[in-house]
Amino acid sequence: MDLSEKRLRRIDKVIEPLRVKPGSRVQLPHDFDPAYKVHGLKKKQGVKLLAEGIRMLSEYQDRLAAQDTYGVLVVLQALDAAGKDGTIRHVMTGVNPQGVAVHGFKVPSEEELDHDYLWRYMQHLPSRGEICIFNRSYYEEVLVVRVHPELLTRQKLPDEAKSGDVWRHRYREINNLERYLTDNGIRIVKLFLNISKEEQRTRFLRRIDLADKNWKFSSHDVAERAHWDEYQTAFSEMLSHTSTEHAPWYVIPADRKWFERIAAAAVLVRTLADIDPQFPEVSESKHRDLLAAKEHLEAEAPHGAAADPFQAGLGGKGDAGHALAR
Ligand code: AMP
Ligand code: MG
Repeated sequence: MDLSEKRLRRIDKVIEPLRVKPGSRVQLPHDFDPAYKVHGLKKKQGVKLLAEGIRMLSEYQDRLAAQDTYGVLVVLQALDAAGKDGTIRHVMTGVNPQGVAVHGFKVPSEEELDHDYLWRYMQHLPSRGEICIFNRSYYEEVLVVRVHPELLTRQKLPDEAKSGDVWRHRYREINNLERYLTDNGIRIVKLFLNISKEEQRTRFLRRIDLADKNWKFSSHDVAERAHWDEYQTAFSEMLSHTSTEHAPWYVIPADRKWFERIAAAAVLVRTLADIDPQFPEVSESKHRDLLAAKEHLEAEAPHGAAADPFQAGLGGKGDAGHALAR
């Protein structure tokens, strides 16, 4: 087994218990412990593991962009203070900012409410070669909108769209959308950051007690906390109905930030490893172009300079020097 295969095995061990089996019925908080971590794993080892994951991510992203065939959509859902922002910041350090986009979704605008409910999310899907993170996503349409039925009223739906089981219809529509995106080369990584009620209370208090965290606190967050049980039910239903083979949910334990970040990075690395993006092959005609340009540049060498200082610097060791010698 080579090194990269060993690493992937290690990653699989981290993420397997977090995956929501398609078709299973999830009951939160019973089925997933917000304080879970890999047995015996210490924070110090965890930091090393995260660094390794980030390095792998950066390499994969390079190839994803060069190949320009697949895109990756990362969907982040969580209750307030579960660590969405911190996870994005930590997991994405070390990747090329040109290849990543982050979109946060807030209360919809009048214009957005004048469209079908998926419309606003479609504007920001990743292009090929790109990793795009949705900080909240179309899943809010079966979460906050479910917990607050008045939000559904604001969506100006025709009566027939509100009759029957609205949420089941939406699960089906979301599953169809994700099937369509996957079939078209957009892979979807779905992370639910699972925080406990007590840890949320502590983090809210921290935001109140520390002056430089005050900006993060909103009394609205405390009002939402009063709906804790309804949210747990809405999340459970969402996980039960929208975890599919091609776009499974991962429940990321969020009470320990360090493990949360490792787990999130691990799922993303695994997805990229499955895509296994490759640098594009250089075509015959491009190869001829490269050779001609090389000859041209070498002929421009000033007196006394090496014809190709780069190749001379390699001393005949590196692969790059042989790249054109097919
Ligand atoms: P934050 O992400 O903490 O800045 O907060 C964004 C707010 O927008 C949250 O309170 C969400 O519940 C709310 N929000 C996001 N999407 C929707 C939606 N589709 N309908 C209503 N509210 C939403
Ligand atoms: Mg907030």
